[in-house]
Amino acid sequence: MAVGNGSAYGAEQLAHDVSKLVGYAVSTGLVHPGDAMWAYNTVLEAVGAQGPAAPDAAELLADAYVCAPTADLAQAGPVSAFVSPQEGFDLEGTVGRIAAAGIAAGCEEDTPSGADRIATRVMNVLMPRPSEVARRFADEYAAGGPQAATDWFYRMSCDSRYVRRAAIARNIAWTSSTPWGELEITINLSKPEKDPKAIAAAGAAPATGEVYPACQLCMENEGYPGRGAGAAHGAHPARQNLRILPITLGGEHWGLQYSPYAYFDEHCIAMSAEHRLMHVDRENMGRLLDFVDLFGHYFIGSNADLPIVGGSILSHDHFQGGRHVFPMMKAPAAGAFEIPGFADIACEVVRWPMSVLRLRAADRERLLDAAAHVLDVWRAYSDPSVGILASTVEDGTEVRHNTITPVACKDGSDYVLYLALRCNITTSEHPLGVFHPHAERHHIKKENIGLIEVMGLAILPPRLVEELGAVRGHLLAHAGADDRAALARALESDPLCASHAAWALELACAHPDIAPETADQIIRDGVSDVFAGVLEDAGVFKWDEPGRAALDHFLATL
Ligand SMILES: [Zn+2]
Repeated sequence: MAVGNGSAYGAEQLAHDVSKLVGYAVSTGLVHPGDAMWAYNTVLEAVGAQGPAAPDAAELLADAYVCAPTADLAQAGPVSAFVSPQEGFDLEGTVGRIAAAGIAAGCEEDTPSGADRIATRVMNVLMPRPSEVARRFADEYAAGGPQAATDWFYRMSCDSRYVRRAAIARNIAWTSSTPWGELEITINLSKPEKDPKAIAAAGAAPATGEVYPACQLCMENEGYPGRGAGAAHGAHPARQNLRILPITLGGEHWGLQYSPYAYFDEHCIAMSAEHRLMHVDRENMGRLLDFVDLFGHYFIGSNADLPIVGGSILSHDHFQGGRHVFPMMKAPAAGAFEIPGFADIACEVVRWPMSVLRLRAADRERLLDAAAHVLDVWRAYSDPSVGILASTVEDGTEVRHNTITPVACKDGSDYVLYLALRCNITTSEHPLGVFHPHAERHHIKKENIGLIEVMGLAILPPRLVEELGAVRGHLLAHAGADDRAALARALESDPLCASHAAWALELACAHPDIAPETADQIIRDGVSDVFAGVLEDAGVFKWDEPGRAALDHFLATL
């Protein structure tokens, strides 16, 4: 069998890699030393191998005695071989070679997703069961507080390769200063590319009966073996190494896990134990506050509960949170306002391209009452002069358009709720949404503006790496030349650049002396400016005079 660069990879190499992987799992605390020998053999089984012996079998066996309950019966204990994490251990490379051996042994189909299923099955062998994770988390929470508990759970989720640190490291990220402060940009390169073989197989897959699990956010994913594109109902990722922490929000069963392809530090997901639709209301805003009561060092927010202005998954009630202070949270107040009957709630309009109200109070029930009032008024609010319509009638049915993207965090003993006003109305001029990225910005961003982007972190598609590289080439080739028409022709005739042509010409006019050492920053800042425009598009009350007057009118109706 050959792997990678063509060097032979035989049983001895497999034994070496599995042994090293077990050592890694012991050193990171995923596997108890007493389970090391068992783990070695169980990984072999997962990749269809029957041997040979681990090269360091003696150490694996000896290690079991260090922490064994029976060790007290002996006079002198053995010394652990796994006292410190292994320097320079290549987790991705090692797991990749072991997965390839499993494919060669016929355990899975020879596709990237097949390899991923084996790799995930192998990592599952090397980690604690869900109940053990929950118990350890509770112990850490009781002894060290919420941050110690999430520190441990996050590290465990990374070490077990559920959070794909190596893939996340491929993302390209930068910040640029804009009129709205520093905005954060990420070009997402971490999610696996779709394999052509998988796409072809998906076309042939039968789809009858119930889908299981119903979606990728269901609690039933914990331990799920995954399936390829050729299976009934198509591909579903392997989740054997997923550990969901049971938490209670609003008196209900919810789960907490980390995002495998995170865009910021400790990007976590809280999801309802029930597969049900997203809903933004007082009840779920209360659950956001319950969450920050449990984890005051995290923010938590919900996507809006309507298409266009919601996130990518509306079918499963869930929140996203994490340990990150977003640009929106750093934005100053543009002004204060008062809600009649809620003089105890500090209310501000945030100076932000989207239309965001910031409500703050120490009393969570009062804060929830105020937020629910804003939501109720906004859901029914229309102002045709600025394009806001609360509802329309389509095929005899009333369709609602207004909702809110809520985000909660703690500030000392205060609760803070950010309420981003959203409206998903469409027109013939803006068929994808009036308060959605407009057509002239689709060359950079066309997708929904979800919770994370509302807060000022753009998640941009991977195609931009190649396209922006091509734009860079044309800008440099025509630097210093006055012939804009020649640059325009070059951009428009290049399939990678045609959609960016108008924007790239603006960059060329603004930076006639663009040079190799300045080009990257100029393009990155240009992308950030487009993202600022995207957020302005998504704002229901613009920052011009009519927009501010319309906002004041809305606030006066509260
Ligand atoms: Zn679900």
